[in-house]
Amino acid sequence: MIVELRDVSKEYGEVAALRGVTTSIDAGELVGIVGPSGSGKSTMLNMIGTLDRPSGGTVRIAGHDVLSLTDRQLSALRANLIGFVFQQFHLAGGVPALDNVADGLLYAGPSLRERRLRAYDALERVGLGHRLGHRPHELSGGERQRVAIARAVVGGPRLLLADEPTGNLDSRSGAGVMELLRELNAAGTTVVVITHDRDIAASLPRQIDMLDGRVLPEASSGQAPETDGGRASERDGGRAAKTDGGRAAKTDEVVWP
Ligand code: ADP
Repeated sequence: MIVELRDVSKEYGEVAALRGVTTSIDAGELVGIVGPSGSGKSTMLNMIGTLDRPSGGTVRIAGHDVLSLTDRQLSALRANLIGFVFQQFHLAGGVPALDNVADGLLYAGPSLRERRLRAYDALERVGLGHRLGHRPHELSGGERQRVAIARAVVGGPRLLLADEPTGNLDSRSGAGVMELLRELNAAGTTVVVITHDRDIAASLPRQIDMLDGRVLPEASSGQAPETDGGRASERDGGRAAKTDGGRAAKTDEVVWP
């Protein structure tokens, strides 16, 4: 289990953005998070991405309890394990694609030459090996999002989190980006995608539906709806119910600062 949320709540002042969310994601899954605006999707992704800490409950990422880590340790966890993709691409303006991607390795600290070699590989992987010197304004929206995905995966993250990655794209480019996320998933990366596009969500193997800060019970195909708790214990063979669940999760090696 790479993501484990237990009874997670998040409050922003008076606003309860998450209310008692319990769910888990196994390594290798491709999951959509869907729900109306304001239902807590981005807050949930921020929890999974360790960009924010829960107000209550437990968030474990690759076995690490987020509340027990310092800010520096959380940065290291993110740099080692997690890649992010956003609706707005967040590329550096005026910077060639190769260096936009190479900058994704700054934290890891290899030489510029090594960073560029790896950036080249990542751009090849997303089909942009012929656009290395192009700056963001010289690329189409779909190409910009591919560069952003290359930057997110250049460090070899186990978990890729995408917040409305097709939100700024026409349907054809969006389909291409979703196909790329599927390929990355097939190659072994766990992928979590926020989308308000019901068609995209329906095309994914699993959906987590959110409403009003809660996760709705998941229905798996051909079976009666089950609660998240049931799913979590089914997935780890029932150990979660017997132990505290977290100990059953594998703890990943992280290079701490
Ligand atoms: P979604 O991504 O589904 O649109 P969000 O997770 O962004 O939902 O927001 C859930 C709720 O939490 C909303 O009511 C939103 O206004 C509130 N919220 C989110 N982030 C903040 C914040 N930083 N400060 C105050 N309220 C926030």
